[in-house]
Amino acid sequence: TDAYLTRIEKAKALNAYVTVTADKARDMAKASDAKLAKGEGGPIEGVPLGIKDLFCTEDVLTTAGSHILDGFKPRYESTVTSQLWRDGGVMLGKLNMDEFAMGSSNETSFYGNVVNPWRREDGGNTDLTPGGSSGGSSASVAARLCAAATATDTGGSIRQPASLTNTVGVKPTYGRVSRWGVVAFASSLDQAGPIAQDVRDAAIMLKSMAGHDPKDSTSVDRPVPDYEAVLGQSLKGLKIGVPKEYRVDGMPDEIEKLWAQGIEWMKDAGCEIVDISLPMTKYALPVYYIVAPAEASSNLARYDGVKYGLRAKEYTDITSMYEETRAEGFGDEVKRRILIGTYVLSAGYYDAYYLRAQKVRKRIFDEFTDAFSKVDLILTPSAPSAAFGLGEKTNDPVQMYLNDVFTVTANLAGLPGASVPAGYDRQGLPLGLQLLAKPFDEETMFKGLFALE
Ligand code: GLN
Repeated sequence: TDAYLTRIEKAKALNAYVTVTADKARDMAKASDAKLAKGEGGPIEGVPLGIKDLFCTEDVLTTAGSHILDGFKPRYESTVTSQLWRDGGVMLGKLNMDEFAMGSSNETSFYGNVVNPWRREDGGNTDLTPGGSSGGSSASVAARLCAAATATDTGGSIRQPASLTNTVGVKPTYGRVSRWGVVAFASSLDQAGPIAQDVRDAAIMLKSMAGHDPKDSTSVDRPVPDYEAVLGQSLKGLKIGVPKEYRVDGMPDEIEKLWAQGIEWMKDAGCEIVDISLPMTKYALPVYYIVAPAEASSNLARYDGVKYGLRAKEYTDITSMYEETRAEGFGDEVKRRILIGTYVLSAGYYDAYYLRAQKVRKRIFDEFTDAFSKVDLILTPSAPSAAFGLGEKTNDPVQMYLNDVFTVTANLAGLPGASVPAGYDRQGLPLGLQLLAKPFDEETMFKGLFALE
């Protein structure tokens, strides 16, 4: 814990942490030491962890990367973090992230962008994004500023940052991990999971994070398997689907090559490769960017200057207090999402946008169900590019949204998906491959990730 705290101090320029809870970390580490000395302790006893600042932590500032949550110290602990502390985890602090988890580059954070510890070999001094929205989580794991981190994924925010930083990111099946005490972005898509240094660590982390929680009615009452136990098991006979629609225009040939390489590795492991077609894929991004903002506009209605954090200093009546607080407290991307969300939900547009998007979402789900009647796993690239330069896409939201093209489908269908480091581009930047699995079949996914690692 001391070693990590020292590294965090030295790596301040990466801006990975919003809050460092050094005293708490040392106290927790001491308690772990005492347990370990007695031969006791949980499965992650004494392991120093970073927590995405979207998880409520009792008495510890929780910002969601937003100005509007200024000074918000929850009176309660999220289920995920309680389970991590139950199992012996040590909290190093809270990790930077895009505001309310909206973004793919960590540049929408009120607390400033995070810097990817990876750099282009000949890129001079260009600082790169660690991905988003879990950019603090990916950068801190990659730079060894924590042993592992929690993250959340609404449209790719665990897998894309993992891909851009050479780390492992696992988004479990919707319902596998409790959302209780996690600041809501889009409730039907949000799911928490780990970002870790390798597949084994991710398996251990997920076991601690997962499980039924009566406080989240969408969490599912199923036993949590021992994900670590399946690592190294044979993949012989598994069918791996390769969807042709994930070959998108303008994808660098290095990513094509990496994908082909991944297919070869799976063959070598004894898998059968099956070409599949998921024609609804082209609608996934438009559907996501209707459903996610719609739910966000509703979830974000609670930030009114009364219940949490910031309240504008100057206002005339209660309506102007709401308006001034929200005008001051939300950043541009969050405002853009609220505008899109309220528009697609408004009378007259609801049927044309929101309802239609829900219908297409159902068809995307059906298409995956059909594909998974023929294959055990689906293999794709995790992201259409390696880490890009900070500021490169901030003026063009659509360019930024296109980065989620391979990841949003899993959220729309509720499927488990994960990114594993698989190679490097010409600049020496890491690239990830993604595996998607059947609902609640994270075990097969972990087996596959271990083979690709
Ligand atoms: N980049 C996507 C968005 O901005 C996904 C974010 C996420 O998964 N939290 O909505």
